[in-house]
Amino acid sequence: MNLDFSAEDHAFRLDVRRFLEANLPSDLAAKVTNNQRLTRDDFISWQDILARRNWYAIGWPKAFGGPGLTPTQRYLFEQEYGALPCPHPCQFGIAMAGPVIYSFGSKEQQNRFLPRILGNKDFWCQGYSEPGAGSDLAALRTAAARDGDHYVVNGQKIWTTWANWADWMFCLVKTDTTVKPQEGISFLLIDMRSPGITVRPIRTLDGDAEFNEVFFDNVRVPVDNLVGAEGKGWTYAKFLLEFERFSMSGSARAKRMLRELKVLAATAPSVSPVIEDRLARLAIELLALEYMELRLLSRMNAGENPGPEASKLKIRGTEVAQEITRLRLDLTGPDSLPFDAAFLDGEGDAPFGRGTAGGAVAAYLNQRKLTIWGGSNEVQRMILARQVLGLG
Ligand SMILES: Cc1cc2nc3c(=O)[nH]c(=O)nc-3n(C[C@H](O)[C@H](O)[C@H](O)COP(=O)(O)OP(=O)(O)OC[C@H]3O[C@@H](n4cnc5c(N)ncnc54)[C@H](O)[C@@H]3O)c2cc1C
Repeated sequence: MNLDFSAEDHAFRLDVRRFLEANLPSDLAAKVTNNQRLTRDDFISWQDILARRNWYAIGWPKAFGGPGLTPTQRYLFEQEYGALPCPHPCQFGIAMAGPVIYSFGSKEQQNRFLPRILGNKDFWCQGYSEPGAGSDLAALRTAAARDGDHYVVNGQKIWTTWANWADWMFCLVKTDTTVKPQEGISFLLIDMRSPGITVRPIRTLDGDAEFNEVFFDNVRVPVDNLVGAEGKGWTYAKFLLEFERFSMSGSARAKRMLRELKVLAATAPSVSPVIEDRLARLAIELLALEYMELRLLSRMNAGENPGPEASKLKIRGTEVAQEITRLRLDLTGPDSLPFDAAFLDGEGDAPFGRGTAGGAVAAYLNQRKLTIWGGSNEVQRMILARQVLGLG
């Protein structure tokens, strides 16, 4: 794609490429390429490498210790990052809790939490969804009742990714049941070591246990951990989701995976015209996705927020990513099997199969989640219909 980047932007891009090439450990790169499971230590050690160069919280402004990248530099960073098999960094601290705290938190909260997030000292999780409150998040029921200088939290969260690893949770709770649902929600920071918290794993289709149920039984949370004003949590939650969706396109990662598919196709004994057609369609869709991303980027360069149009990136990016994992199975056929849990956990070699076929089934199963989390794609379509197209 022929883009008009400045000489400074080109130099930045080269700097990022050289840094990542020199610092990405080969064992981590192999795990990502083979769709093997990453441990908490894998994430921590990789994020430490990024944090030392101040390229962990890449979206943060200089005022809060971040690198202060322009939207264009951030885009270029993500392009270079996705071009290599780098572990996808855990987003809950750097892309969610952090921006909410520096935008709406008190000075004390900023001083306490931001340096630790920036330095990769704490692992965060997101406590939004509950049984009965997923797409309809305002229906959440986890209650926080004021008791002196504490809130007492009771209730349950579900699908909480990495709650089993987390030091902290940013959590939506009900602090008032007498007003409109959206107006009674508050944004609390909860220490996951607090007495009364129970975390139970939920197995995903690929056998992993990356997400959990979290139960709160009279958990005492200091009032100091309330972000912003009581009852304004809905505003902060929505602010955060727009940014979450903008970063969900994953176009650079998809380009790398498409390149891998093309290599697999080129080395296959035969490839049907149907597969060739699907490869070509994917390449076209990826190009369209990238243009969409760049259009939003130029708006952000002009100082605008991503807005409801970020939903387009979420929809197309996740559909493309799922089609890539599906096509990989169709390309490698029986070589993608068997499903070997030991291999996924990094023990032993790929069971059999051509090149990177190992882990393909696990990736296919795992990526089903993409069109559900971060707000399901059906709900994103409703957002586009209402807020962008002005329908109904
Ligand atoms: C792998 C994974 C990790 C997750 N991690 C987290 C996490 O860390 N923290 C967290 O808080 N949550 C997390 N979630 C939860 C996720 O945000 C919810 O699953 C999602 O918001 C959908 O909610 P739900 O599962 O309750 O489905 P429901 O809301 O019950 O939806 C069921 C179906 O109905 C459709 N639907 C619902 N409402 C509408 C509507 N208005 N219009 C059209 N269709 C509609 C949905 O698209 C879906 O197909 C995770 C989910 C997954 C799969």
